[in-house]
Amino acid sequence: MKYAILSDIHANYEALTAVLNKCAEIGVTDFISLGDIVGYNANPKECLDLMRSLNLIAAVKGNHDEYVSNNDEVMEGFNPHARAAVLWTKAQLSEEDRAWLAGLPMRLTVRGTTVTIVHATLDSPDTWGYIFDLHQATDNFTYQFTQLCFCGHSHVPLAFCKKPVALRAAKPIDEIPEWSGTDMDKIGEETITLNIEAGYRYLINVGSVGQPRNRDPRASFAIYDSDAKTVTRYRIPYDLRTTQEKILQAGLPEHLANRLENGK
Ligand code: ZN
Repeated sequence: MKYAILSDIHANYEALTAVLNKCAEIGVTDFISLGDIVGYNANPKECLDLMRSLNLIAAVKGNHDEYVSNNDEVMEGFNPHARAAVLWTKAQLSEEDRAWLAGLPMRLTVRGTTVTIVHATLDSPDTWGYIFDLHQATDNFTYQFTQLCFCGHSHVPLAFCKKPVALRAAKPIDEIPEWSGTDMDKIGEETITLNIEAGYRYLINVGSVGQPRNRDPRASFAIYDSDAKTVTRYRIPYDLRTTQEKILQAGLPEHLANRLENGK
């Protein structure tokens, strides 16, 4: 089985359709969403409808999904750009769309797999913490009972592995630096593949489809191949000029358009 793992689409229709075209080419049949389908960019309704038209076997809630689906207008701690985008997004969605987002779980073990999914962290998924370092990854592994855990939220692709008990010694958890790799001299499509080894556990941030923040503006997502026992990250160029124009036409903050081409 080939599962496409998509996170942080953030209402970017051009990035999402580029990713889905790639998935069709690869022969993906099952889709998994790690949350934040909406927020920031200009096509929340279109992205939500497109995701729900797929064979979406599992989906969890992201913080933006939460903000647009609850009735709380306050949004403490938000910067003004994020707040403006949340209020605009709310107005684009129907009550039914918002109810669908509100009903998503915070974390989930995907039926028939050894995969757990969460938007932020397994230890406290509703406080929207980030996993950037070994210490935070270690906390997450304490709550990870499946071989694989996929997460998003930071929009930065990162991977960690926890060794089998017999090999743990002084350092039980390692980062896998190759996963984060960016080579901006290459402007086409690129992939990085991890082999999933028996006895190891993996925590993998797949990066963001719709608003990458690792200085690589290409849409990032992953395919988990349960037969080949591999996870592959794809970096896909898309028509980001159109996405930027839509942001400006919608009256969303210009900063949201600019950041797409900087990938941060
Ligand atoms: Zn996000």
